[in-house]
This record gives sequence, structure tokens and C-alpha cells, in this order.
Amino acid sequence: MDTKKTSNGWSDEELEASVDAYLKMWTLEQSGQAFTKSVENRLLREGPLHLRSASSIEYRMQNISAVFEQLGLKRITGYMPAKNIGAGVSERIRKVLAAKPALHAERHTAKADNPVPEKRTTASKPSLEIEPQGILNPRQLFTVSVSFARALHVRRLVRQLANGICEGCDQPAPFAGEDGQPFLEVHHVKHLAQKGSDRTTNAVALCPNCHQRCHRSGDRDAFTEGLYSKVQRLARE
Ligand SMILES: [Zn+2]
Ligand SMILES: [Zn+2]
Repeated sequence: MDTKKTSNGWSDEELEASVDAYLKMWTLEQSGQAFTKSVENRLLREGPLHLRSASSIEYRMQNISAVFEQLGLKRITGYMPAKNIGAGVSERIRKVLAAKPALHAERHTAKADNPVPEKRTTASKPSLEIEPQGILNPRQLFTVSVSFARALHVRRLVRQLANGICEGCDQPAPFAGEDGQPFLEVHHVKHLAQKGSDRTTNAVALCPNCHQRCHRSGDRDAFTEGLYSKVQRLARE
């Protein structure tokens, strides 16, 4: 547990502000709403990331895109994943993301009558505002957390259903991931980009080979057909 440690000089608060801004844009994009990257970038520099340059914030967003891809989540289209993201930064971003659904669950049980998350225990550090006006108010953060938690939940569920076996070739996952679990990638049979739904009836857990086969092979249509006839829970959309 080295949450206090900083990599590349970014504090936990700065990383979290970046993740919050990313999640906000991600939610807007998922629901087909417009946003302007440069405006979000400027708001961050006027608020919690006043020590950072526009380009370093842009790069941080690309880091978050890389983590989204590692998690099998659709990233924000406008932020290409940064290729050489360090393991340390990746791990810290994952931790911040993992805390978001927890925040959501906690609020539901503890404060079901008042679903507005308060600021977390950052009150002792008034110099760094996590949710300044204009970037993400508490109610928006709550909505974002719910929507992110739901997306992550689907992926976890699909991996659980596959139980370590690729649903394409029925072979065990080729290796264990960083989390020690069998490494399988979640693929949306009707692609999200084609407005496929993010539900277990449209998602399979595949080994990296089968996943690439779905996207790049000459027989990808036939292979996808095979998934529909083989994986019972799938429904055509
Ligand atoms: Zn496979
Ligand atoms: Zn895929």
C-alpha cells in the first residue's frame, strides 16, 4: 500500500482529478453527448492541475485510455492510448478507478436517501480541490461512478461466466494476468462502436488469439457466427 508515493511527480489528488475528468468525458461520449477536450483540459489547469501543462494533462488522459484498454473497457475515442505507460502509473490509475464503484456502493447502502457523494477525506488538504466548480460536481461524479461501475460489472461478470476458459476456442486462458486471474479479454460480439449493448448477452471472454481473430482475421464473420451458436447467453442485436 504505497498510495502516498508519487510517480512522475503527480500526487494522488492530481491523478484522481484526471481520472474524474476522464470519466466525465467518457460518460458523455458513451451517451452520445458532445464535449470539448481543450475546454476540459483548461478547466483542469484552472483547478486541481494548476501545476501541470496542457500537454502533460493530454498525456495523462492517454495513460488513462491505455488503462481502460487493459481493463477491456472502451476508451474515449479522442485519446489514443499512450503506448509506454509505466507499470507504476498504470497501477495507481487502476486503484483510483477501482475506488469509484466502491464509492457508489458505499453511498447506496449508507446514504440511500441522499445519493450525493461528499468529498472524500481530502478536507485536510484545501490547496488541492478535487471537484472544483465547473469540472465535476458531486452529483455528476455520482452518475459517472454508477455508469462506470455498471460497465466494469459487466466485464467482471462475463469473465466469471467464462471461468478461465476462452469462449472462442474452449482452451484455458494462456496465462494469468497481473491480478493473478486467468487472462481473458472481454469482446463485444456486436461492437460497441456499432451501438452494440454493454450487456452479458453481447459480450464474451476470449483469449488474445481468439479476440484478434474476431477483429482481424479473414474468417471473422464465420467465427463470430460460431460464438452465437456456441455461447448460449448471447442474443443477436
Ligand atoms: Zn481462444
Ligand atoms: Zn473485441
